[in-house]
Amino acid sequence: MTGKIVKVSGPLIVAEGLADVEMYDVVKVSDKKLIGEVIELRGDKASIQVYEETSGLKVGDDVVSTGAPLSVELGPGLIESIFDGIQRPLNMLMQVSGNRIGRGIEVNSLDRNRKWHFVPTVKVGDSVIAGDVIGTVQETEVVLHKILVPVGAGGEVDFVAEEGDYTVAELVAIVNGKDLTMLQRWPVRKGRPYKSKMAPTLPMVTGQRVIDTLFPIAKGGVAAVPGPFGSGKTVVQHQLAKWADADIIVYVGCGERGNEMTDVLREFPELKDPRTGEPLMKRTVLIANTSDMPVAAREASIYTGITIAEYFRDMGYTVAIMADSTSRWAEALREMSGRLEEMPGEEGYPAYLASRLAEFYERAGIVHVLGSNDVVGAISAIGAVSPPGGDLSEPVSQGTLRIVKVFWGLSAQLAYRRHFPAIDWLTSYSLYDNALADWYAQHVAEDFGALKTELSFVLQEENQLNEIVRLVGMDALGARDRLTMETAKSIREDYLHQNAFHEVDTYSSLDKQYRMMKLILTFYHEALDALDKGAELNDLLNLPVREQIGRSKYIEEEHLDRFDEILRNIKKQINALVSGGGVNA
Ligand code: ADP
Ligand code: MG
Repeated sequence: MTGKIVKVSGPLIVAEGLADVEMYDVVKVSDKKLIGEVIELRGDKASIQVYEETSGLKVGDDVVSTGAPLSVELGPGLIESIFDGIQRPLNMLMQVSGNRIGRGIEVNSLDRNRKWHFVPTVKVGDSVIAGDVIGTVQETEVVLHKILVPVGAGGEVDFVAEEGDYTVAELVAIVNGKDLTMLQRWPVRKGRPYKSKMAPTLPMVTGQRVIDTLFPIAKGGVAAVPGPFGSGKTVVQHQLAKWADADIIVYVGCGERGNEMTDVLREFPELKDPRTGEPLMKRTVLIANTSDMPVAAREASIYTGITIAEYFRDMGYTVAIMADSTSRWAEALREMSGRLEEMPGEEGYPAYLASRLAEFYERAGIVHVLGSNDVVGAISAIGAVSPPGGDLSEPVSQGTLRIVKVFWGLSAQLAYRRHFPAIDWLTSYSLYDNALADWYAQHVAEDFGALKTELSFVLQEENQLNEIVRLVGMDALGARDRLTMETAKSIREDYLHQNAFHEVDTYSSLDKQYRMMKLILTFYHEALDALDKGAELNDLLNLPVREQIGRSKYIEEEHLDRFDEILRNIKKQINALVSGGGVNA
């Protein structure tokens, strides 16, 4: 079984003499036992991507196959962990080898010593199938970890452990003669099975106004955030990780700067989930393969992430996975492809780039999970894309846009003007809009859809009016058009602009979003009426209530009734103006 290295090319090595080795098998390279994965087999030659620094490897070094594909460990202990691209726990690694990750270090992904309080939910003699819950572990204050019958197992329960504390390696059940622990393994490149996919009809609320109102994502939806450097991709991803109404967050930091992951690690334990009041880290799994870490593990990291996401989906949870950035991931793919001397496609990316992207996003969705009961679980996937120079015609953007249903296009100009989030309202879209309309009407407000349509409409009108202004100047516009321009400005500055770093503004509930829209558009309608009745535009624009509208984003969720008062003020002040009472009446 032991093969020999015949070639070393950066993170790629070629070995000969590995009998019986299969595609995607994990191998151990040299006496350093570096972890690698077979990514091409040609005759007796295996090409292996090595997930660790390969310096010092030389021709003739041993290569041994483990006979198993690259897999992740699934079980209690995932939440609050930070792993590298091949699921080695980072904090543990740091302890073992100091600050930098040492090479060839064998550590378990899940702690073997930690005990978890297992509560059985089946009894001896019960009949179970794959996906059924045999017990639960309260993993954190907010995550009830369900111990599932693994795929491939099922039958009569011969034994189940009594309630108590167990490690992930200890026996907790025997099903049809098969020993089960709380730990399962799953090969990362293979999607975990489910019964059937459903059409997404529920929104994943993010608390970000431009997203929830104009370009919503569904639970089980797929979205891309493309944008040039500094346009706010990472902040959008962080905001979603913080505030999305998902049960579980899997955040994959992929080839980006290490300090961004440090930010997450510093912030999340401090931030409280608005729904549970618990620190956000208590529902989060982090995968970090930052730019200073080996490139091959970056290729694996998004599969590691989505496999963990699927595992929690299979418990019936809503999971959101963010990958920042899929472009850095694609670059890793390109580098490996180049070293394999494959025929390069567009811009040097391999011809299979698009299908690999699809394979990742297709693992998202809302599904009926395995098991005897009808349980629904969902994965929403959001990928950041960093096209060089922001040019979306390049292959990673194009491949992504063909797959995803939501496009949050970040604009360099908006970012430059410090309009954040810099999601361009004229080019972005959500194909879930119609599918979610009923939900918004039923759960937020009957006229939510009408208001949002008008919001977009005013923004589009502004765009057209801007053309005219550019050609003939502002003076050419009548009072009504100028009011429309002012309303668009208010929509942009008071509504769409949302400061991620402001304590209150960082998150807006749908109720608040609705009330804010209502203020802006009520003012617009009342002011249009007033113009018809002879009011002066400038008097309308100088009404003190405008200031209140502008500041309404800072109203705390507990005080949303203040919106009613502002709404009354709008009518009162405009009425007073029309009836000649002056602005302070
Ligand atoms: P990218 O990942 O696209 O390179 P970042 O997400 O790091 O860009 O954003 C760059 C900077 O833009 C941030 O450091 C922050 O100052 C600013 N920024 C982005 N989004 C927001 C936001 N929603 N609110 C406030 N500032 C933001
Ligand atoms: Mg970034």
